[in-house]
Order: sequence, then structure tokens, then C-alpha cells
Amino acid sequence: MIEISHVDKWYGPSFQALKDCSTGVARGEVVVVCGPSGSGKSTLIKCVNALEPFQSGEIIVDGIKVNDPRTDLPKLRARVGMVFQHFELFPHLRIIDNLCLAQEKVLGRSHDEAVAKASKLLDRVGLKEQARKYPAELSGGQQQRVAIARALAMDPIAMLFDEPTSALDPEMISEVLDVMVDLAREGMTMMVVTHEMGFASKVAHRVIFMDQGEIVEDALKIDFFGSP
Ligand code: ADP
Ligand code: ADP
Repeated sequence: MIEISHVDKWYGPSFQALKDCSTGVARGEVVVVCGPSGSGKSTLIKCVNALEPFQSGEIIVDGIKVNDPRTDLPKLRARVGMVFQHFELFPHLRIIDNLCLAQEKVLGRSHDEAVAKASKLLDRVGLKEQARKYPAELSGGQQQRVAIARALAMDPIAMLFDEPTSALDPEMISEVLDVMVDLAREGMTMMVVTHEMGFASKVAHRVIFMDQGEIVEDALKIDFFGSP
């Protein structure tokens, strides 16, 4: 589903953030990316949906070459849902409208269709009652669940998560992880940057370990954790 081959990325002329990175995520697979801060985890997943350009190598998502000038990037980004550390909801839009905007603008859904889809997803993440509120009226854990629902509203073929729980108060982490665990169990293809090793050991099929821009370990979870 996601094929990453020999990707090199520089920020500016002298700093190489990714060095010959090759890996992939199969359909229905959950891959956790871990490694020290600054090792390139976030950069790697941003390259997958073209939020960051890269200089050489190739990334193919569901048959679509990401680094091809002819690729329709808004469509690609809709197909690959992304959830960030800092929710990135539109602060001036109600929760329901946060979920409808891209459905209408990018997918061309009617407002009624978008609302129906949004309501179903808000219900699924346990936030039906919050639909008319603004992001600032919600807790961090609730906002992150909205961000996940917003990405799901686009019917993505895969989901990328960039440290989705690291900006949350401890008591809110599990409500977000629970949603992610459910998604994984339903067979969603996922690439997850996280330090939550509990999540990794529970649902990851593979764990990738990065260090200084390189993928230094890419292993079946069972090998990575060293015991059956
Ligand atoms: P991680 O997610 O593992 O913490 P990042 O991918 O965010 O790592 O960053 C990898 C390296 O690239 C770090 O040294 C970081 O400072 C650098 N970096 C990230 N984004 C930029 C940028 N926009 N411009 C320059 N350097 C960047
Ligand atoms: P994350 O790892 O979640 O992306 P960061 O705090 O590393 O968060 O980065 C926040 C923003 O700052 C990102 O847009 C990243 O590209 C940018 N950034 C990170 N490191 C650098 C850097 N050394 N120089 C310039 N921009 C950077």
C-alpha cells in the first residue's frame, strides 16, 4: 500500500534528514515508527503524503507516485489521512464544520452527505454531543479524536499519525489510543510515529526504528521486543 524506496531528504543544502530510507506498509498493516527525537520520523511520514518534498528515491501510495509532478496532491492527501501532534483543527469552525469542509471542497460531497458522514464518525469517536462546539471548548483528547474523525471522513486508504498523544495530558492518552486500536483491529493501514510502546506491543505488526535519518531496524514486532 505504501512503498518507500531509497528516499533521501535534505533540509537546505547541508542537512540530510533522511538517508536512503526504504520500507513499506502492506494493506491492513500497522507499522510503528520510533527512535530518538530528531531522527527523522516525522519527516518520513510527511514525505508519504507530500507535506515535505524529498530529493531522491520514490514513494508510491496505492499505485500513485507521490513525487510525480502530475500527482493531484489534495486528492492524495485526502486518500492518506494524517493526524498530527497538535490536532490542527480550524479554530473558527464548529466541530461538525471541521469534519465537513474537506469532504465538500476536496471530494465534492453535498453538505447533507458530508454532515451525515461527519455525524456518524463523531458518534463513533464518542463526540456526538460536541458537534456544535468550537475546538477550544474541547479537551485535548477530544480534539485529537475530532482530528481522527476528520481524517476518516475522507474514506482514507491509510492513516498516518505523528505522535498523536504526545501533546496530551496523561489521562487523555488512552481515549485516543483506544480509537486507534479500534481502527487497527478493523484493518486500517496505519503508519504511527509514537513513543507509546504499549500501543506498539498491542497492535503493531512491525516496528521501525530510526536514528539520525536512517532506518536502523525494521522488524516484526515479535523480533523487536525480543520475546515471543
Ligand atoms: P523526529 O520526528 O524524529 O523528531 P523530525 O523528522 O521532526 O524528527 O526532524 C529530523 C531532523 O530534521 C531534526 O534534526 C530537525 O531539526 C530537522 N528538521 C525538521 N524539520 C525541519 C525543517 N523544516 N527545516 C530544517 N530542519 C528540519
Ligand atoms: P514534529 O516533530 O511534530 O514535526 P517539531 O517541533 O519537530 O514537530 O517541528 C515543528 C515544525 O518546525 C515543523 O514544521 C518542522 O518542519 C519545523 N522544524 C523542526 N525542526 C526545524 C529546524 N531545525 N529548522 C527549521 N524548522 C524546523
